[in-house]
Amino acid sequence: MIKYENMPGDGKFGEFGGVYVSETLIPALKELEKVFLASYRDPKFISEYGDIMRNYVGRPSPLYFARRLTEYCGGAQIWLKREDLNHTGAHKINNTVGQVLLAKRMGKRRLIAETGAGMHGVATATVAALFGMECEVFMGEEDIRRQSQNVDRMRFLGAKIAAVKSGTATLKDAMNEALRSWVARVEDTFYVIGTAAGPHPYPTMVREFQSVIGRELAVQCMENFSRYPDKIFACVGGGSNAIGIFAPFIGDPNVELVGVEAAGSGLETGMHAASLNGGSLGVLHGNKTFVLQDEFGQIKNTHSVSAGLDYPGVGPEHSFLKSTGGARYSFATDSEAVEAFLKLSSLEGIIPALESSHAIAGAMREARDMDKNKIVVVNLSGRGDKDMASVSEYLNSKK
Ligand SMILES: *Cc1c(COP(=O)(O)O)cnc(C)c1O
Repeated sequence: MIKYENMPGDGKFGEFGGVYVSETLIPALKELEKVFLASYRDPKFISEYGDIMRNYVGRPSPLYFARRLTEYCGGAQIWLKREDLNHTGAHKINNTVGQVLLAKRMGKRRLIAETGAGMHGVATATVAALFGMECEVFMGEEDIRRQSQNVDRMRFLGAKIAAVKSGTATLKDAMNEALRSWVARVEDTFYVIGTAAGPHPYPTMVREFQSVIGRELAVQCMENFSRYPDKIFACVGGGSNAIGIFAPFIGDPNVELVGVEAAGSGLETGMHAASLNGGSLGVLHGNKTFVLQDEFGQIKNTHSVSAGLDYPGVGPEHSFLKSTGGARYSFATDSEAVEAFLKLSSLEGIIPALESSHAIAGAMREARDMDKNKIVVVNLSGRGDKDMASVSEYLNSKK
């Protein structure tokens, strides 16, 4: 089930999205759009993608009933879509496999990527190794410090790490550098964007590759309960795991779609990364969307305990869904996310990523007040192994 059947050439979602980049990149984006449109419904492409999904990534990911977490909350049934069980430990690989197949079709031999928590960097370095391509990953120095384990993983996979010192030395700065570097070497380089943001065609392309999550979920729901769930929760950084699980259900009046943003120390403190709840219309990384900015349009510093959500923008389709009411966007603070992280670990034996913990926190809060026969699905976007140091550091700071 593909929404926006006639993908508009300018990649607009209402007033959001579009292409706001330097002229040098326009031909490259046009070529990418052409190759993507010609490929993603080509049976040969679909079969190659599907084969890698099954035999390398390990799909389909299970839909798991969290019995003890459900009993603890005492309301709706909570089910988890287990993207944490994918090869490399998160949903990111669904997208990097799709993009590397496009790079191959375009004859590019070099991949670049930006990364925050390092999961997208690892997923890009992984497909570069799989296809024998060169790979360079841009990562902020602050994130290199917070996520040193993923830095080692990328190096072992054969990628080069470019440390980014500008700004807050986090994800937005890494994306600025990656875009700059792409302008300089656009002939032989494919830029693998890790979320449903950036200039057209990235938001549409990333949604299509990630919607494997939602398409599987639709089938699994029919098998398990012969209907679709009442609510679907997903955390929103740039918005790729959320749009991927939402896509087939957009417009279904019986399924409520809930994105959960990172409220950091609290929306009122200004130290957060909740672009949809606390931002305003602006342009960031090549598209028009909700952005955290000051009155002069300067991008604000963001904060989240979770490096993967620490981003001052959001994919334009989420801005569109917010403005049309097609989805609802709530938020969870650092402390609520860490609490959910600890609860899921101790009640289910599943250590979630700090990003995913925001979705769990949002779901726990609402499931409590729902009837026992209601069904809630949470996109468990990744596993928490990378977050051991961040959680310990957070808990020690609260002692
Ligand atoms: C990167 C990441 C996110 C945030 O990115 P989205 O594009 O918003 O999905 C969420 N969860 C995990 C596990 C991640 O690695």
